[in-house]
Amino acid sequence: VPYSPPDQNHVPHRLFVAEPSIGSREIELVTDAVSKGEISSRGQYVKQFEAAFADFVGVSHADAVCNGTMAIHLLLAALDVGPGDEVIVPALTFVATANAVTYTGAKPVFVDAEPVHWNIDATRIEPAITPRTKGIIAVHLYGHPCDMDAIQAVADRHGLWVVEDAAQAHGATYKGKQAGSLARAGAFSFYANKIITTGEGGMIVTDDSALHNRMVLLKNHGMSATRRYFHEVVGYNYRMTNLQAALGVAQMERADQLVAQKRTIAAKYHSMFGEIAGVHLPTEASWARHAHWMVCVVLDEALGWDRDTLAAELEAEGIETRPFFPPVPEMPMYGSSVDACPVAARLGRTGMNLPGGFGMTDQDVERVVAAIHRHAPKGITMREVK
Ligand SMILES: *Cc1c(COP(=O)(O)O)cnc(C)c1O
Repeated sequence: VPYSPPDQNHVPHRLFVAEPSIGSREIELVTDAVSKGEISSRGQYVKQFEAAFADFVGVSHADAVCNGTMAIHLLLAALDVGPGDEVIVPALTFVATANAVTYTGAKPVFVDAEPVHWNIDATRIEPAITPRTKGIIAVHLYGHPCDMDAIQAVADRHGLWVVEDAAQAHGATYKGKQAGSLARAGAFSFYANKIITTGEGGMIVTDDSALHNRMVLLKNHGMSATRRYFHEVVGYNYRMTNLQAALGVAQMERADQLVAQKRTIAAKYHSMFGEIAGVHLPTEASWARHAHWMVCVVLDEALGWDRDTLAAELEAEGIETRPFFPPVPEMPMYGSSVDACPVAARLGRTGMNLPGGFGMTDQDVERVVAAIHRHAPKGITMREVK
């Protein structure tokens, strides 16, 4: 990319890490729901959204809830996770994965990331298992699926369940099967920056009918299916509204296209980056389809790259970035075992997300890559990119 000095008369538009794709169909269906007064969780769109999502993932049940964090909590509650139990979670994830475990009264036990796809390191799970361990939450970080067979093999040896936090992985596949259909159940988020969005929203998918029935009961105040206002257990109100679901139905009509668009943006970055020493892009395993929720790069500190300096330089040019998640065990409420997760710590320090919203054009990607070239530390040799 030829370097051109900043033009004082031309302020380039700001580029965002994430931006939803809202079209006329979304507006049409939300307007329909509002104008009919169907604004609570009662209304046709919730059922339609659940059916469309179950079909997309290829499972028999999908239960819509108010957000992705509550999706994980509801799933754990339905699995009877509670005080005294332990659940294995990756150290490198969004904090909600661990918090959902904490809400049940159980303890999240952190396992380090593997350095290639940055997911939970299956080879490190076994030493973290104790007699209190109930199960494992596999998070498909930034959209790349975990090696589920390796995780399931450890779980099977110890009689544990595996569930997926697929909040970042709509449309990702593992050995040809959709994320969310790879274990006992899968939880999704539809937060505004996720690949498919309802503003705020979540879904749990499963083929397990008993688990599904338990979640239906718990998400609706634990109310008996046969006796109104008679509550069999202490439940929750985790229902999704018909407004959220109307947005979701419209998004599902072009779900494949949304996933394809994320992959196209990532592919453009890959082809543009050429070889800048010390800027590592994620690789896609032979058994995986990466959903590329976020555009990710990991910078090599040894070559002089400093993530936060680069972020500030890009920000000054109207290019938004965000840092990778810091390892959850570093956070005060979980604090202690940071040293036990050196890979997650390094990724948390050196990884960043680049602009990858649905509005990104090829020219926008070129602008980001050119800016990163320009801000490379001294002495970095670069191959010209086309
Ligand atoms: C977004 C996200 C969640 C939480 O979803 P919300 O809808 O924001 O509550 C949970 N886990 C992961 C990995 C996420 O990225």
